[in-house]
Amino acid sequence: MSATHSNAVAARSSQEITGPLTDIATTISEVGGKHIPADLRWDALLLTLLIAVFIWWVRDGHGSRGADGRERKAGLLQFLVPRDIYSHPSARVDVYLYVLERLLHPLWAVTLLATVGPAVERSVVSALLWCFGASPALETNYAWMLLYSLVLLLGYDFVFFLTHFTMHKVPALWSLHKVHHSAEVLTPLTRYREHFLVGPVWAGGSAVSYGFVAGIFAYLFNGGLLEATLLNIGFFALLFGFNGSFRHYHVQFNYPRWLALWLQSPAMHHIHHSYLPQHWDKNFAAVTSIWDRLFGTLYLPQKDEYTPWGIGPETQGENRTFWQNTIGPFRDWYALVKRR
Ligand SMILES: [Zn+2]
Ligand SMILES: [Zn+2]
Repeated sequence: MSATHSNAVAARSSQEITGPLTDIATTISEVGGKHIPADLRWDALLLTLLIAVFIWWVRDGHGSRGADGRERKAGLLQFLVPRDIYSHPSARVDVYLYVLERLLHPLWAVTLLATVGPAVERSVVSALLWCFGASPALETNYAWMLLYSLVLLLGYDFVFFLTHFTMHKVPALWSLHKVHHSAEVLTPLTRYREHFLVGPVWAGGSAVSYGFVAGIFAYLFNGGLLEATLLNIGFFALLFGFNGSFRHYHVQFNYPRWLALWLQSPAMHHIHHSYLPQHWDKNFAAVTSIWDRLFGTLYLPQKDEYTPWGIGPETQGENRTFWQNTIGPFRDWYALVKRR
């Protein structure tokens, strides 16, 4: 870790313009990414519960789903933490896969976000210096900071969309991502239910998108937009983290149609997890609806639309246990190679 730190320091003194990612890299390598993700901290979960109580009250007990993916009327306790969901074997597998993912996460965070991100950022700055000469060293103001945050978000969301789309369409990658979709019930931990080999894919994607956008802005502002980055973390972390904890919660949180056309509501991710053919390969993005709209994969759910979760009755038995999910991709790849 101290090596990474001194690398970052060396990079700082050798580079004319240091972008925010290079600084963030140092922090990440020191923190080591061991913390609980923001959307699983008590305040985020409390907020989720409070909104769920509000939905329960407004909709007179309606609006949550059972383990079968059907909407049902429920008493408050069953509405918030239904027994059929939290005692489901799938919820237990979520816990094991979460622990494994968290154990390996620092590895990806340090190796990719701290190396690929700054490398992309520095390359972009160098390329721009080469093409256009010295940095215009624009003055930062609040409008620029907001624009930076917005471009960062759109860039991240686009790379997320593209990565996610590819994981659904390429059979060898689907074998990995299938682990996430093999969840038969949704719990806040389901977000981290991924095969351990998928971590680097997501981390690499964010590193590239952040590095690319941060590089452009570091050039425009002569590196002086650290404040914008800090602001950005505060500004969009709320939107993103909040969306994160509710996306995999069984209570339907819908947005009005006009808003859902721009931002993915948590209920739209229920659709993404459904195995019904009309829901298959829909709502890929993490935050906005823009990319799904442009690429024709947006699906706005009807009120209380039935969404049975998982990979479907035919193959669900192959991806049910922790062990099946962990060795699943290797089993699939072997079958793919043999078929060729
Ligand atoms: Zn997916
Ligand atoms: Zn999901």
